[in-house]
Amino acid sequence: MEQQTDKLFETSLTAVEALAYASVAPEQGVDASVDGLTYAVPRALADLAVGDRVIVPLGRGDKPVAGFVTALRDDPPEGAGTRYQLKAILKRDAHSLSLPGDLIELARWMAAYYCCPPGMVFATMLPAAVKRGTGRVVKMMVRAREKSPVSEQDARLSKLQRAVLEAAGQRAADGEPWTEVRELANLAGAKTTGPVRQLIDKGLLDAMPADAVHGAPLLSVAETGVDALEGRVANLELTDGQRRSLEHLAARIGEGFGVHLLHGVTGSGKTEVYLRAIEGAMGKAGPGIESGPAINFSLVGDAIDLSSLEGRRPVRGEGSDDQRLSGQEAREPTFSQPLVGGQHSAAHPHHGGAIVLVPEIALTPQTVRRFTARFGDGVAVLHSGLTAAQRHEQWRRIRAGEAAIVVGARSAIFAPVRDLRLIIVDEEHDASYKQDQLPRYHARDVAVKRGQLLNIPVLLGSATPSLESYYNTRPESGRGYHLLHLPDRVAGLKLPKVEIVDMNCERQQRGAILLLSQRLEDALRQTIAEGGQAMLLLNRRGYANYIACPDHRCGWMMGCDFCDTLMVYHKDRSLPAGGVLRCHHCGAEQILPRLCPLCGKRVSVFGLGTQRVEEQIERLLPDAALARMDGDTMRSGRDYHAALEAFRHGQVRILLGTQMIAKGLDFPNVRLVGVISADTAIHLPDFRAAERTFQLVAQVAGRAGRGEHGGLVIVQTFSPEQPAIALAARHDYPTFAEREIACRREVGLPPITRMARIVVRDRDHLKAAAHARDLAGHLGRINHDHNLGVHIRGPMPCPIARVAEHYRHELQLLAPDAGRLQRLMTTLRNARLLKSDQHTAVDVDPVMLL
Ligand code: ADP
Ligand code: ZN
Ligand code: ZN
Repeated sequence: MEQQTDKLFETSLTAVEALAYASVAPEQGVDASVDGLTYAVPRALADLAVGDRVIVPLGRGDKPVAGFVTALRDDPPEGAGTRYQLKAILKRDAHSLSLPGDLIELARWMAAYYCCPPGMVFATMLPAAVKRGTGRVVKMMVRAREKSPVSEQDARLSKLQRAVLEAAGQRAADGEPWTEVRELANLAGAKTTGPVRQLIDKGLLDAMPADAVHGAPLLSVAETGVDALEGRVANLELTDGQRRSLEHLAARIGEGFGVHLLHGVTGSGKTEVYLRAIEGAMGKAGPGIESGPAINFSLVGDAIDLSSLEGRRPVRGEGSDDQRLSGQEAREPTFSQPLVGGQHSAAHPHHGGAIVLVPEIALTPQTVRRFTARFGDGVAVLHSGLTAAQRHEQWRRIRAGEAAIVVGARSAIFAPVRDLRLIIVDEEHDASYKQDQLPRYHARDVAVKRGQLLNIPVLLGSATPSLESYYNTRPESGRGYHLLHLPDRVAGLKLPKVEIVDMNCERQQRGAILLLSQRLEDALRQTIAEGGQAMLLLNRRGYANYIACPDHRCGWMMGCDFCDTLMVYHKDRSLPAGGVLRCHHCGAEQILPRLCPLCGKRVSVFGLGTQRVEEQIERLLPDAALARMDGDTMRSGRDYHAALEAFRHGQVRILLGTQMIAKGLDFPNVRLVGVISADTAIHLPDFRAAERTFQLVAQVAGRAGRGEHGGLVIVQTFSPEQPAIALAARHDYPTFAEREIACRREVGLPPITRMARIVVRDRDHLKAAAHARDLAGHLGRINHDHNLGVHIRGPMPCPIARVAEHYRHELQLLAPDAGRLQRLMTTLRNARLLKSDQHTAVDVDPVMLL
């Protein structure tokens, strides 16, 4: 091969000239080996390390692409320099980015385990904003001046300026006073930001850079004051369960890797265990530390020491923490030792770090406050609401060791935390930890793997653990997870009483299918009359989910043109037709037809949706301020936060919503929880239908009775005999789990076995079927030849056989252990017979089977 003249694109190098050899995984989806491709390392890059991001020439055209160094070695691969010329790495990437070695190792594992090109795993690990080096563009935020005498000024203001002030006032009324300049102009209908800027100049609007508003989560602590939540932390005495769990962890944490499953009923204070486990792992809570300055949160209010909240270092009398906590104490944490007050650690030098995963939806100000109140600016928060620049900044802080504790949703498991010592996965059962596109990883399982690679403990927590994790605590699983229990609620609070209302009886007695039983309606009225708050769950958005011909003999139902699903009716007053039919799978929309297209009768609208419940409650209790929280009303994290704040402050009395409201919320004044229908998941063609139903009912029930008034939960169902519902009503997770595991064992399903699922999709029905058949043939042959004993189900159409004009067929692979599945799929992959692409989705440990 001829050498290129252009120095920069000097792509070939003979083996002798090379300093070393590197495996590079290009970011573009080349499904080569897990390690990637081999390149020569030129002299200029003598200090190259595993994890560095580099630019390499790829393919015939030697297109320069980015990739990561996954391995380095001294000897050339066989045949290099003789049979073929090795290409050389061109340079480092422009920002000299690198990933820590343990993430590289993790990426290799993920690429193999989840059947994903390694480059795509790296692309997932490193936020795009970091790669692009998105700068910190500081936006200007403004808000209305509280006491601005607008009326007096009115005359001197232009129409647009007045519109801007009005919009700013509206934002303040909505509880979100700070608005970005451009956004406020838009809200006021102004084409330019001129009117907003003029008002800033006139002093009628306050302005502040966005960083100061959003960047520092601590500001919100100061702004909202420290509420009952942190107040309770001040003098809390650990419950027996908390103490026992922490003692267990303290004893095990030094032993390196281990997985600990904390099964704590709702309201049992799992978060407090997390907080202290982190303090323990970071070697902070040793004896003697209490003498340091502590903030007593019960006294906070006005007297709060803002300088320390902002992370400014309080002056300390004795030697630095470094000296005090190094050596023995750091190694032997005793974090069951009650801390004085809410020990504030913002200013402590960090001894290692921790990652706390929470479901995206649970990243409420409430959760964030709990961590920032304890750890101050040592906390980085990662969630989908961050701008690219904010994400970049957080990543940089973490990588630089400025933030040692990361609280974030799924992808936060890839945070490049320095000296990571503990990983916590809260609500570990939550389905949102599974990514439904490449790489189809499960953050909980990746957390366990990362813990194993780093030889550090992993703490999983839930009130309703996944059967996978629960099973792994049993000896026969051979996985050796430790099970910890928090059987009681904190501070003497009791689990709420749960009543089941059989809607079959209700229908007979009242002669119609009603949304609210008499019992629930009465309880709701009483709760509101007594000054309490209520939460109502219906896990289905929209108004109604059956649009059908009323004539049973005709039987017409309104399906989606592009999917094998039914259309859902959404009311929308802004539309001329008053509403629209929407497909929840492909997003297609249609007008609600008046007449049945088959027989001409007037169509009926059946079924439940949150909008319909909202309408009914507004009729029944017109004065009870209700907020609806579902995918339609909550367009952004900001909406969600605003709605929760309104509920927290009591402006909203009834919170109605989908599973969004079921998770992690802790509002002491919630005295009633109503489950409008516990049956939304129970009949789904998915073997986890019962598990999901149990989780949903138990979790939402757990929102009730977190204050002194106790709590009542009313569960409406047409299937009161279903064990998932009956046992959730009795707060009996162990019995449910044992029963369900027995059922799964009988039919050979996870968690007893391991599953991988391959979904083939194509616009052409025959092609999809043929592709699935081919795959089944190859799989069957390899399975037989290698004597793997994998059970192959299918090919068969998926439960939803067509989505967005694509036909879908699936294969399910079941094996007694993951190793056999891996061997089967790797063999197929290496033979280039299996590839993840737009026609083929490989899902290892799938959680959704529709
Ligand atoms: P879970 O996550 O288990 O549902 P939380 O962590 O939300 O429970 O705790 C519920 C509430 O109890 C929180 O307000 C928390 O501050 C408080 N709390 C935690 N531990 C204790 C304790 N030992 N004594 C009193 N209150 C506690
Ligand atoms: Zn559709
Ligand atoms: Zn009809």
